[in-house]
Amino acid sequence: MNMFRRRNDRAVRRQASTTQRPEPQLKSPREIQIMREAGRIVARVHAVLREAIRPGVSTWELDQLAVETMSRYNATSCFLGYRGFPANICASINEELVHGIPKKDRILKEGDIISIDVGVRYRGFIGDSAWTYAVGAISPAAQELMRVTEESLYQGIAQAQAGRRVVDVSRAVQRYVESHRMNVVREYTGHGVGRQMHEAPQVLNYESDDPDGQTILRPGLVVAIEPMVQLGTWQTRTLKDKWTVISKDHSLTAHFEHTIAITNNGPEILTLP
Ligand code: MG
Ligand code: MG
Repeated sequence: MNMFRRRNDRAVRRQASTTQRPEPQLKSPREIQIMREAGRIVARVHAVLREAIRPGVSTWELDQLAVETMSRYNATSCFLGYRGFPANICASINEELVHGIPKKDRILKEGDIISIDVGVRYRGFIGDSAWTYAVGAISPAAQELMRVTEESLYQGIAQAQAGRRVVDVSRAVQRYVESHRMNVVREYTGHGVGRQMHEAPQVLNYESDDPDGQTILRPGLVVAIEPMVQLGTWQTRTLKDKWTVISKDHSLTAHFEHTIAITNNGPEILTLP
């Protein structure tokens, strides 16, 4: 699940200059320990789904496996019911970028790529991670899209050092993606994460004069970094179900996300297995 960004950057800037912006909430070591556990549960859910993804499986079955795994670890989905979202995970296939709703009649086919976003709440804190998976054998173009998007996430994470700014992360993601002639989505962003799924600051995947980009990364800040990349245009549109976001030109899309804690010893990925 992603933070929605208004299409009109100028309107965002105007609003930013006239209203109080929320301050990033720094987490204590004890809180980060809980978030580490939440992150590990997210990683376990992904490990279960990775094993289950194959041609013939429905996205609803993946949703059920995810929620069973969450409950085994005393966690719940933080997506279910969020602004009315009707499922436990987001499952978005091919040109679908984010927020796809799992369905019994949505069956994976050989050659598809599927982006799965998993968010859990555990002891009051959120873990959030998305991954794009291949269904059987996929095209070279889809492989390259997945490789570039995953690597752009790690390029962004490498910048998540205490003392740097959010925009350093944004710039690293954008440069890597665009150097491979692909495009980062503008309308959805990464975000601070903690007791709420979406906290300040927003973490764009492109360089801009967004005031949140100037937020200094301090130890105790936890952010979800999540490049969303499309082979064609960066533009998106939302389907009639009011949730599923697709690339405007129906080109293939990918989405990789980790929850990261800023520490004095560099970025710590909380959503690793
Ligand atoms: Mg997510
Ligand atoms: Mg997120």
